[in-house]
Amino acid sequence: MDEAPTQYDPISLTQALVRIGAMAGEEGAVASLVRDAMTALGFDTVTSDAMGNVVGTVGPRDTPVGLLLDGHMDVVPASGTWARDPFSGVLQDGAIHGRGSTDMKGPLATAICGIAEAGRTGQLTQRVAVSASVMEEVIEGAALARVLDAFDPQAVVICEPSNLELKTAQRGCVEILVHVTGVPAHAAFPERGRNAIELAAKAVTALAALEMPLDPILGRMVLVPTDIISSPYPSVSALPAKVSLRYDRRTGVGEEACAILNGIREVLAEIDPEAFTVEISSARYRSYTGLSFEAERDLPAWHTPETDPLVGAAQECLSALGMKPTCGSYDFCTNGSEAAGRRNLPTIGFGPGRPEDAHIIDESIATDALHAATAFYSALALRVAGPN
Ligand SMILES: [Zn+2]
Repeated sequence: MDEAPTQYDPISLTQALVRIGAMAGEEGAVASLVRDAMTALGFDTVTSDAMGNVVGTVGPRDTPVGLLLDGHMDVVPASGTWARDPFSGVLQDGAIHGRGSTDMKGPLATAICGIAEAGRTGQLTQRVAVSASVMEEVIEGAALARVLDAFDPQAVVICEPSNLELKTAQRGCVEILVHVTGVPAHAAFPERGRNAIELAAKAVTALAALEMPLDPILGRMVLVPTDIISSPYPSVSALPAKVSLRYDRRTGVGEEACAILNGIREVLAEIDPEAFTVEISSARYRSYTGLSFEAERDLPAWHTPETDPLVGAAQECLSALGMKPTCGSYDFCTNGSEAAGRRNLPTIGFGPGRPEDAHIIDESIATDALHAATAFYSALALRVAGPN
């Protein structure tokens, strides 16, 4: 086991975080390393909440939090065959290798180091916070919601990997369950019942024909079935009483889950007015601190306009640091669904690492990108929460 470093920089902190790993609900050791690093780097306050999110702040006490940077501490499993130990955190060929290096131990380490650097200048006029949040890989937004309640920031940076490009939008996602109720009967006499599978097949066909809205920034939306299960399962020699379908619906800015559900209900009512019920999927989660909570899988899309001062500030910092100031969008869901989608807080995304390297075998992150992101976060903090 490697010794934890006593001095933290973006490289050593990324390596140390990668070596711990930690899937959702198991982030305790990552959280204590984050607390140690924030303390060693001179954060003014370092706190944890009941869910296990760690938040550090720099800047003058009793001032509002002008900017909050968020990075999650959990990783997805290191499945498949890797060229190196997925938790080696080894530095080789200009990159740190391992699960979570890009998504998102590297981005989290650079946020911590960059904000510490901004704090050390002594020029901040407002507080800047870094949240190391839990369980993003299983339920986006739920952990950040607690942090936002507690710290009430004026603007948010989602530090998910963006290849050092500014992201100002993100598609949303609603997970929908369609329950189909049939009439069970002996399979030898199907005419005596009503086959829930045949009803479900009609539903799948009808929903595939449903026209999806076109978002001017985020493109054409998607509705796709991801799961089908009969009940009882297995249903041997009998028509099943029930079938449940799971749908993934990618959403555009301003689309509300209840309107989406109603649209689906209308289509299904034409097949049968009674057989279908539709709901948003929800599940119970347990954080590493033992806190149990329920959350719906309803993650709104968001877009922060280029006229927003946060976007302008980010673009100025990027230009000053020799990076491209163009705006793009995330293709995957992030904690931004909570900050921007639900709360309308000015929000941008920016992080080191290429989005396409997230969740893959042999994940790695370039050290150049770690240094560039650290410089950007520090500059942005000073621009947004500094002496103007
Ligand atoms: Zn991530």
